[in-house]
This record gives sequence, structure tokens and C-alpha cells, in this order.
Amino acid sequence: THVITSLCLRDGGCATVCPVECIVPGNPVDKYPWYYIDPDTCIDCGACVPECPWAAIFPEDEVPSAYKAKGGEYLSQPVGT
Ligand code: SF4
Repeated sequence: THVITSLCLRDGGCATVCPVECIVPGNPVDKYPWYYIDPDTCIDCGACVPECPWAAIFPEDEVPSAYKAKGGEYLSQPVGT
């Protein structure tokens, strides 16, 4: 799967290009405050990556360590801050 990190500022362009419509806006008050990719539906096509103005989206195995938060939660602040 691809994942969206906390660099996301909710542009939403990614959601419009995803061929399987697995990117959802999330909810600012719940556990996914930014856009969120459903890992069970993502086909790893990569189409969303260049659409993000902030380069917030990564293949799961290429997420910068600073964005790998406790418990494997990518949609969170960088570890140690
Ligand atoms: Fe959708 Fe492709 Fe991005 Fe996965 S990698 S979220 S399938 S656009």
C-alpha cells in the first residue's frame, strides 16, 4: 500500500486520480486527521504520489523514518516531537 503522512495539508488531488477510489478525506477530529489510504484497496499504482503538492505520499516501505510514529501509525506527527 501507499500511505499518506502528516505532511498532508488536505489538497485532495490524490483522491481525484486514484483509480480505485481508496483515498478518503479522513476527519480532522478522529485518528486520521489527514487524507487516508485504505490499505486493503490500494493497488500501489503510484498515481497519487505526483499529485501531492507537499510530497506527503509514499510507498509504505519508503516512508521516511521521521514519519513512522509509534504503533505503525503513519498519519501522525513525526516521532520524537
Ligand atoms: Fe490509489 Fe494508486 Fe495511490 Fe494506491 S497508489 S492510493 S491505488 S492512486
